[in-house]
Amino acid sequence: MPGFELFDEDERRAVSEVMETGVLMRYGFAAERKGRWKAREMEAAICERAGVSHALLLANGTAALTTSLAALGVGAGDEVVMPTFTFTASFESIIAAGATPVLADVDDTLCMSLESASRAVTPRTKVIMPVHMCGAAADVAPLREFCQERGLFLVEDACQAFGAKYKGKSVGGIGDVGCYSFDFNKVVTCGEGGAVATNDAKVYERADMYHDHGHDHSNPDRGLEGHQFAGYNYRISELNAAIGCAQIRKTDKFITVLKRGKKAFRDALAQVDGVTFRRLPDADGDSATFLSFFMPTEALARAAAREMKAAGVEGVFHWYDNNWHYVRNWNHLKGHSFVHKLSSDVHLPESFDFSASDRWMSRCISISMKLGWREEDLPAKAANAAAAVKRALVG
Ligand SMILES: *Cc1c(COP(=O)(O)O)cnc(C)c1O
Repeated sequence: MPGFELFDEDERRAVSEVMETGVLMRYGFAAERKGRWKAREMEAAICERAGVSHALLLANGTAALTTSLAALGVGAGDEVVMPTFTFTASFESIIAAGATPVLADVDDTLCMSLESASRAVTPRTKVIMPVHMCGAAADVAPLREFCQERGLFLVEDACQAFGAKYKGKSVGGIGDVGCYSFDFNKVVTCGEGGAVATNDAKVYERADMYHDHGHDHSNPDRGLEGHQFAGYNYRISELNAAIGCAQIRKTDKFITVLKRGKKAFRDALAQVDGVTFRRLPDADGDSATFLSFFMPTEALARAAAREMKAAGVEGVFHWYDNNWHYVRNWNHLKGHSFVHKLSSDVHLPESFDFSASDRWMSRCISISMKLGWREEDLPAKAANAAAAVKRALVG
């Protein structure tokens, strides 16, 4: 899946352009940088892609989430609703913002549903933060409507779904704010990077200041810039931005390749009795980084993962047993284990009964689609995976 599989002359040239001037910082040094503004260039490309008026490129996707919450004014005493199936960055970013994470179940879309989100809402809720998991959109229209009715913010975690669409719109461009990750394992990569996308100029302005120590970016002399708010440092470097500039131009090409692979695997697995597929609220908009399906039972899911790995199938995930992406093994969160003392305003969850999520996640397997696969090898790869799953089912 990751864009690094197809690094070529484009990425090397973009990095060289930065090294020729030696200006690795995204701000200032106007005379020295010879017109090269890689972070700005990437931000313009994100705006175009996401269909938003403002984008801020920063250090990583986790920082994008924290910065979004801060820019929305979310902090001490506020609750943010997040799904049980996501990367741990969801609760990390909420806690970093000083707010309280509240977990909501996922369903057969592998994402938070309106029903579970609305059950998690309390008078302290400020934000609903769905995650577009594994490259495809959550059913975000009902969540958006719910947020509008209740006066809540909708923050889309589109960190795993850059390039995916939901009913004609780019994910990350639908809520009040959208966040992307361009870390090394994402489909479009900066090496490390992330972005905040929004149509709200005020939110953008506050995010822009927050992510750079409060700098208002109003003066060529940084020492003379104002600081309306205190901030933090989540800046991106020009080297990382340069790689992103080269990568983002390949988004459509990447998705075409991934879709080809996914179709081959899906067609093969659809022939296997007992296999059912993840429900996609917008199948055409899928960025196709993963094929996700359900086995009839948890034990059979484990057996399928085992058989596929033994058969040499690459990129097999049984998320239920994964320590990073599903609540079941988040023992640090469950045990309230943090390196430092949290503010007494952060109320960590005490109860972790998510049987509604378990019902889907215990049976779910995802296979990561590789950009580097050759088209002529797909039928054999897909047949190999399907045969392994079949072996698991017949015992
Ligand atoms: C990757 C990811 C993040 C965090 O992105 P980083 O750039 O690695 O900090 C956040 N949320 C989800 C769902 C992710 O997959």
